[in-house]
Amino acid sequence: MTARPVLLVTGGSRGIGAAICIMAAQRGYDVAVNYQSNAEAAEKVVAACKAAGAKAIAIKGDMAKDADITRVFAEVAAALGPLSHVVNNAGITGPAGRLADADPQTIRTCIDVNVTGAILVAREAARALLANGAAKDRAIVNISSIAAGIGSADEFVWYAASKGAIDSLTIGLARELAPSGIRVNAVAPGMTETDIHAMSSGEPGRVARIAPTIPLKRAAQPEEIAEAVLFALSEASSYMIGSILRVGGGR
Ligand code: NAP
Repeated sequence: MTARPVLLVTGGSRGIGAAICIMAAQRGYDVAVNYQSNAEAAEKVVAACKAAGAKAIAIKGDMAKDADITRVFAEVAAALGPLSHVVNNAGITGPAGRLADADPQTIRTCIDVNVTGAILVAREAARALLANGAAKDRAIVNISSIAAGIGSADEFVWYAASKGAIDSLTIGLARELAPSGIRVNAVAPGMTETDIHAMSSGEPGRVARIAPTIPLKRAAQPEEIAEAVLFALSEASSYMIGSILRVGGGR
């Protein structure tokens, strides 16, 4: 029997990350669900993964903190075996507003999670996947945003800049790991119906306000983003590396 692929999703307890975890479990992956604080949400995702026949665990850890990142990777390997796939998804915006009015701490916190944390997660993922040469297939998917290309003026240009960094990380790491047979890509979602708008950016009505400006006239459901991530994780995308896959409804 071939070993099941083992996937870690950072920020896997809610929104896009949760949809990725559940879809991956349905498609044969064992799944580690990382979360920062909402244990109940993480346990719900774990239960859904188990109901789909996967092994699954929830692991608490702040993906902006070096020690937490190292520990989370070690706990995944101890519980599920060597990692073969990682989705670098944890991300925040901070309260929306013009850059001139933004609190420096809002910017620092966003960059800590979305850039420094994501690069450290990618580093740990590279180390874990390089050490797992026995895996049939290995891949990393970074979650970017269409914000990297449109800049998010009047909302959170620091967040858009953080996702620009994710795109550069993806291109460079893909070239670095290609000779080792590890594929690295990014998925750049457009506006997606999750809690991020109310809880991180502080505007519960953001989806309703922006949806009419999207060519498809609606936000994405998290599962529509997860489909693209599952493609980028799978061998169906065997010749795709360093790609930024836009899933933005035309935006
Ligand atoms: P969300 O609904 O707010 O969920 C965020 C998830 O990340 C939760 O599981 C949360 O855990 C976790 N998280 C937050 N900070 C963390 C940290 N420091 N360490 C570990 N986990 C952390 O967000 P989402 O909308 O699904 O967004 C997911 C990714 O997609 C982000 O990178 C975001 O930038 C990107 N994206 C989203 C949209 C959109 O419109 N929704 C569009 C483009 C790109 P807790 O529940 O424990 O807090």
